[in-house]
Amino acid sequence: KYMTSAEIRQAFLDYFNQQGHEIVASSSLIPGNDATLLFTNAGMVQFKDVFLGEDKRSYSRATSSQRCVRAGGKHNDLENVGYTARHHTFFEMMGNFSFGDYFKPDAIRFAWVFLTEVMGLPKDKLWITVHHSDAEAERIWKEDIGVDPERFSKLDEDNFWSMGDTGPCGPCTEIFFDHGEEIFGGPPGSPDEDGDRYIEIWNVVFMQYNRTADGQMTPLPRPSVDTGMGLERIAAVMQNVHSNYEIDLFQSLLKAAAIAVQTQDMDSKSLRVIADHIRSCSFLIVDGVTPSKEGRGYVLRRIIRRAIRHGNKLGAKGPFFHTLVAALAAEMGEAYPELIKMQDQIERVLLKEEQQFAKTLDHGMGLLTEVINSLEGSIIPGETVFKLYDTYGFPADLTADVAREYELTLDMEGFEQAMQQQRERARAAGGFAVDYNDKLDLSGVTDFIGYDNLEAHADVV
Ligand code: ATP
Ligand code: MG
Ligand code: MG
Ligand code: MG
Repeated sequence: KYMTSAEIRQAFLDYFNQQGHEIVASSSLIPGNDATLLFTNAGMVQFKDVFLGEDKRSYSRATSSQRCVRAGGKHNDLENVGYTARHHTFFEMMGNFSFGDYFKPDAIRFAWVFLTEVMGLPKDKLWITVHHSDAEAERIWKEDIGVDPERFSKLDEDNFWSMGDTGPCGPCTEIFFDHGEEIFGGPPGSPDEDGDRYIEIWNVVFMQYNRTADGQMTPLPRPSVDTGMGLERIAAVMQNVHSNYEIDLFQSLLKAAAIAVQTQDMDSKSLRVIADHIRSCSFLIVDGVTPSKEGRGYVLRRIIRRAIRHGNKLGAKGPFFHTLVAALAAEMGEAYPELIKMQDQIERVLLKEEQQFAKTLDHGMGLLTEVINSLEGSIIPGETVFKLYDTYGFPADLTADVAREYELTLDMEGFEQAMQQQRERARAAGGFAVDYNDKLDLSGVTDFIGYDNLEAHADVV
């Protein structure tokens, strides 16, 4: 039956509360006690120390709907947005947690009962995966739950979950929903699994280990449970649509975006990117991030500029992105009153960034289009990527995003060389020589440095 996103969120929290779980509010997108993580990327982040046995709570079962951003670090979906039906930079992850309380049998049963009884989903639409080593989970699914072996498979790394390169981790079991044969895609583990037909909706993780910086896995003090279900994905299922972008809460955002950039093309990929990005950008600003040249602030700047570029592509005549905050506050302000309280401030931050980037965007796009039009081969030279970055404030991933639309890629090695040369020139010139490495203040964001090392040098506009 049809349920709104808000109703689903409430039903989830209510169900787990009835099963003895404390309802815990979403924590900030900036992990409070964790220097290893760029942004909160899962519901378990605020409970990391509880899993590790370093923090005690008054409860041993909890449930939450956690705001998450996956736009950097180990879980990075920025490149997926607009290309898949299921990925956002910002999304809400609903979860239930056991801190040394129940383990596999209850965790699996809770998830199954919630989906098949509370949500009323047909059992034959649900597909299950477990870690190949997890005979216990396999037995529970097949014998206790009675899942059809046809819709069951054992996988490897997809069924081992980690928060980041270090921290709590363990084998998991995942539940997929079959959106029907008219959609392209194969079941989990098959060659076409990345299509949009079989969509992963829920991950139930059996937290058993802590991975330390040297790669060692030590058992946690008490086996625990951490689960995550994307609100937008289960909403798509409950609302009988095949893409997250067709659910209730995206409708007003897409409409507002279409009006703001004056396009009629409601199905455009760029419009979805904009509707996605206004959520991550607004929520990051709510949680205290501002656009800057490094670290988290640079990730925010990159997302804002990507959104601006997509608006520009659709023909936006001036600053438009900040006008979408109102629609977002109207849509999500009830669940997140901070959005309403901070609406003016979010708009100001975005508008300023739009005005700043407007000065160079057209010229940068002009240069890039020229290069693309006269390009031989399929690789945009590193020199161009560097010039766009250095002179026009184009983060390399933005240039890559444009390139992808022409089925081109970037010479990142050449880009890095050009960057290195500039560093040397600056040093040779003496005086105000900038050592970009010195400026790399990522506040200990270790996994982020590995992935985004290039863009992290940003010193632009
Ligand atoms: P996928 O394989 O689809 O990328 P995942 O395995 O990376 O998902 P998990 O880390 O297991 O995702 O997160 C738990 C749940 O959170 C997923 O089952 C999904 O419902 C939801 N989720 C994960 N990433 C996203 C995203 N980028 N946008 C929306 N929902 C997401
Ligand atoms: Mg993923
Ligand atoms: Mg997955
Ligand atoms: Mg998963």
